[in-house]
Amino acid sequence: MKNVITPSNTKELLKQFEFRMSKSLGQNFLVDKSILDRIIEGAELTKEDYVLEIGPGMGSMTQKLCESAAKVVAVEIDKKLIPVLNVTLSEFDNVTVINNDVLRVDLKSILEEHFGSKPVKVVANLPYYITTPIIMKLLEDRLNLTSITIMVQKEVGDRIKAAPGGKEYGALSVAVQYYANPKQLLLVPPHSFIPQPEVDSVVLKLDILTEPAVAVNDEKLFFRVVKAAFGQRRKTLLNALTAGNLGLSKEQLKAVLERVDIDENRRGETLSLQEFANIANNLYNAK
Ligand code: SAM
Repeated sequence: MKNVITPSNTKELLKQFEFRMSKSLGQNFLVDKSILDRIIEGAELTKEDYVLEIGPGMGSMTQKLCESAAKVVAVEIDKKLIPVLNVTLSEFDNVTVINNDVLRVDLKSILEEHFGSKPVKVVANLPYYITTPIIMKLLEDRLNLTSITIMVQKEVGDRIKAAPGGKEYGALSVAVQYYANPKQLLLVPPHSFIPQPEVDSVVLKLDILTEPAVAVNDEKLFFRVVKAAFGQRRKTLLNALTAGNLGLSKEQLKAVLERVDIDENRRGETLSLQEFANIANNLYNAK
């Protein structure tokens, strides 16, 4: 079996299959063996693990996942890559490739069908044009996941792991940190891919929490509060919440902030997850 990961093998396969990479599908293939090894090491896979990969591409990472884990399911949107994967994965009997759009499939049923009730690890070099919707789908669908190890563009990685107070901290930071504990494993330069992306990338590991990071009475309301607070970044917290269609008057919101002891003049981006939860829970009781 040929390892896809070297630049020369990738180029050979591209030629053999007359495959033209699609920018609109976020196709930047990893061709750096040391980075791949570090991703697999960072994902902490064992031979007992069940793995979901999103966007296997030509199968460079998939090959390594098949070697390191018990079973792999890979979802790839591009039907032109299926014949390539049939060749590059031909030696493995522990992989299933599903030709579909990961945002359209019912991941819960897929995981149940292939892995039963076993916990699953996600490992993926994500297509950058839909990074956020994929991450949110993985987290919000309440799948039986233990970790998500993903390559994303550095700017998104910075936002995901940001702490309160900085300009990177926003609704995405709160949403991910509500469900998971994110940490950055490595920085990946553009020359590790064919074709080279215009930006640096990072590999993050999100360890899924057994319980959300903060206790909230109503998750929808919690995320509406977060969205409102970050919706108008230059406004004070009180004005941003007032403009956020939360169904309460300015006076009522002022009273809520007083009750949870948060200064109405602060900016949304300074609030911790616990403070957002306190506001949402108090609002819930005030309604
Ligand atoms: N895993 C390969 C690697 O590391 O070289 C390819 C990674 S490439 C950055 C992203 C992959 O996601 C491409 O193969 C692309 O076709 C696939 N993809 C793009 N949109 C997708 C979607 N909505 N659902 C599933 N796969 C998708």
